[in-house]
Amino acid sequence: MTRRLRLVILFMLFLQACGVNASTPTSTPTLIPTATLTPSPTPSPLATLLPTITPTPLPAVSRVLIVTFDGLRPDAIAAAGMTNVLSLMQSGAYTLRAQTINPSLTLPAHASMLTGTCPAKHIVRWNEYVPENGFALGADIFDLAHASGLRTVLVAGKEKLRQVTEPGSTDFFGFIDVTDKIKDITTLENMAIEQIREGFGLMLMHFPDGDLAGHEYGWMSPGQLRAYKRDDDSFGLLLEVMKSRGMYDDTLIIVTSDHGGHDTTHGTELPGDMTIPWVVSGPRIAPGELQTQVYIMDTAATIAFALGLPIPADWDGAPVYEAFGMPYDASRAGGCPGVTP
Ligand SMILES: [Zn+2]
Repeated sequence: MTRRLRLVILFMLFLQACGVNASTPTSTPTLIPTATLTPSPTPSPLATLLPTITPTPLPAVSRVLIVTFDGLRPDAIAAAGMTNVLSLMQSGAYTLRAQTINPSLTLPAHASMLTGTCPAKHIVRWNEYVPENGFALGADIFDLAHASGLRTVLVAGKEKLRQVTEPGSTDFFGFIDVTDKIKDITTLENMAIEQIREGFGLMLMHFPDGDLAGHEYGWMSPGQLRAYKRDDDSFGLLLEVMKSRGMYDDTLIIVTSDHGGHDTTHGTELPGDMTIPWVVSGPRIAPGELQTQVYIMDTAATIAFALGLPIPADWDGAPVYEAFGMPYDASRAGGCPGVTP
């Protein structure tokens, strides 16, 4: 209750104590601030102080935003001061020990994240834009979402992400590849904002800069952490746009990365390369740290579950049910063959 409303109620009580019935139009109308006070059928102003108990249906997920910070190690989130990600971790469910696939490289990992399968099935083991290789095999989350009538958007900082899903499955695909010497992060940011304004059912926003800085200055170096901080600021701007358009409360947001890194590289099975953050926030999410061992393939399955889409039987990932307040399944096996843990 606002302080102003509380003052108005106290004023009403005072008037009643003085024998003035505020609800009768015959009393001095100028004394009643009608702009803030609705005509009150309630027997007592005190009733408005009590919490109203109404059955609330489970909030629906209207859309899903996936944000990948390329190369983001979990320990970089706090070290870089990524306040927007930290805030989502507080409001949502998260783990800082999710695992990517081997090879821990951008394109194969994004393919597993979005197809819900291990590289053996989606076959994307290359890590450059190689159009003649085609697209990741299998039904991916963009295929499913697009087929169900949702507007699908992929905004990427690397052109090779085109190969995670067929052009027919994305209503919009845009990229600004800084490795092509177009050093304009605001363009990528503006592209994303424009797409948010268009509206979407499923959107992937990929921030490339942390990875590029890692290759240049080293993982967890000040230069890389500064890049993640800038990315987080951009992410915060996207969230503000969603809030201003009333799109925030019914959006499921997943923040994760494709791989970590060490020294100035990644791609190995070292824990520093394999371990990634996985954060989910939004409707139906039970906040807290997840016990579930999350794998990158679980991202697609979790999105399908949240959007009520059928999960293909051959997917290796599974929804992270614990994030939705369901029991943690300790017996669950996951991951890809030959990959530890
Ligand atoms: Zn990457």
